[in-house]
Amino acid sequence: METENVVARLKSSGLLRTKGLIGGIWIDAYDGKTIEVYNPANGEVIASVACMGEREAKDAITSAYDAFSHWSKLTALDRSSRLRKWYQISIIRYHVILYNLVIEHKEELGQLITLEQGKPLKEAIAEVVYGASFIEFFAEEAKRVYGDILPSPLPDRRLFVLKQPVGVVGAITPWNFPLAMITRKVGPALACGCTVVIKPSELTPLTALAVAELALQSGIPPGVLNVVMGDAPNIGKSLLESPKVRKITFTGSTAVGKKLMAGAAETVKKVSLELGGNAPCIIFDDADLEVALKGSLATKFRNAGQTCVCANRLLVQEGIYDKFINAFSNAVQNLKVGNGFNEGVTQGPLINEAAVQKVETLVQDAISKGAKIVVGGKRHNLGFTFYEPTIIGDVRNEMLIARQEIFGPVTPVIRFKTEEEAIQIANDTDSGLAAYMFTNNIQRSWRVTEALEYGIVGVNEGLFSSEVAPFGGFKQSGLGREGSKYGLDEYLEIKCVCMGNMG
Ligand code: NAD
Repeated sequence: METENVVARLKSSGLLRTKGLIGGIWIDAYDGKTIEVYNPANGEVIASVACMGEREAKDAITSAYDAFSHWSKLTALDRSSRLRKWYQISIIRYHVILYNLVIEHKEELGQLITLEQGKPLKEAIAEVVYGASFIEFFAEEAKRVYGDILPSPLPDRRLFVLKQPVGVVGAITPWNFPLAMITRKVGPALACGCTVVIKPSELTPLTALAVAELALQSGIPPGVLNVVMGDAPNIGKSLLESPKVRKITFTGSTAVGKKLMAGAAETVKKVSLELGGNAPCIIFDDADLEVALKGSLATKFRNAGQTCVCANRLLVQEGIYDKFINAFSNAVQNLKVGNGFNEGVTQGPLINEAAVQKVETLVQDAISKGAKIVVGGKRHNLGFTFYEPTIIGDVRNEMLIARQEIFGPVTPVIRFKTEEEAIQIANDTDSGLAAYMFTNNIQRSWRVTEALEYGIVGVNEGLFSSEVAPFGGFKQSGLGREGSKYGLDEYLEIKCVCMGNMG
């Protein structure tokens, strides 16, 4: 019933799109195939969307390639004003969601995220704001893409550096932040003059299609932004094989990222990868307990633990271990699990059955190797894909649960004695996306920050991501950065120009 009501409202607002977008036209799969999108909170079908493949992907690439010839020639100011319009449309809808204002159809974006992804509506709304911030930031930042005049080694020559858009971009995105992972790529790409083919996750395509609809409404020309979804490996193959696509930007699992990187080698495309994490969250004896508690809760349980930067391992120093675990257990027991549309819910369902099974396997493995459940540890009695907020003590870093990305509401806790040991355990992983530490010792915070092999470090801070800050990882967590001025460089080519015969 709830799914039906929300869907009816979305339909009447024109934001429930189920076809792919190629060259500004909404298109069914050429063979008529569809796939179903489910509400993870109750298993209901929300909609059937076009299940596209290689042929549609090729047409989307051609349309992006054709659009590039005019979009890249607009001035940066012109592109910027169009992006601002897109941002405003998104943000106006968001504000109305946030303040629960009167007009029924303004709540759609947040509702759509909660409906197909499951996170609590408040978090979904926060994602809309976060996502919209990338469109606004890059609309401004692209006005400040400057070239350089270099000192010439010879008196009759002049040397310049021009920065130009890379070209057609293939953007492949995950389900856990179905809106923000798109705008974090498309915002800078379009601002630089690139055109894009988006391949959203088949689990959450509806948000991507709604965002594309808003882009069309804001006047972004046909072909500049295209969306194809369905047969992921074949769409991926088309994007990788086409010489017209000059860049692949991917957010998702490390396993798929590696495949894409290998595939991009054939045509030597530029590649940006935002991959999985295994974040340590280190609580030192000298930490402010309240701050550490609040930070650990926020980093671990946001989005039911389905966040690449969420704490995957809690490292607690022995002097504070019992006290901290007691306080943390009390806080975790107060989390409210349920349907993201229900008032006061702080943890929604996991995305699907496979995700729950992965969590169960990791928890069972840890128990079989001597770890102890402190809180939770099993499926929630709400059924479907709900899992209890869980803490597991006595975990060792060699256990599977500390080596793999859990992507669920489970906190493995590892005890440590010294700062050196904490650093060694924290860095003993192939990942290097985010790390957190809680300490009141300023020298220690600096020493440990320098020693951590991670792209993002939170000191007395468990939840940080912003359009102004570079986002990305060391080691197998990825290549390149998104957000900030560094994120803009990912969509620009550098051209060196030498002018001779200058007298
Ligand atoms: P996934 O790798 O399974 O899928 C990501 C995207 O890749 C989806 O659109 C999927 O359809 C597509 N895909 C899958 N196989 C493909 C192929 N062979 N060719 C082309 N495309 C293919 O990841 P997921 O389960 O959607 O997302 C969860 C993962 O994303 C986690 O590992 C998480 O850490 C990571 N993530 C990273 C960041 C970051 O910024 N570093 C942010 C969010 C999520």
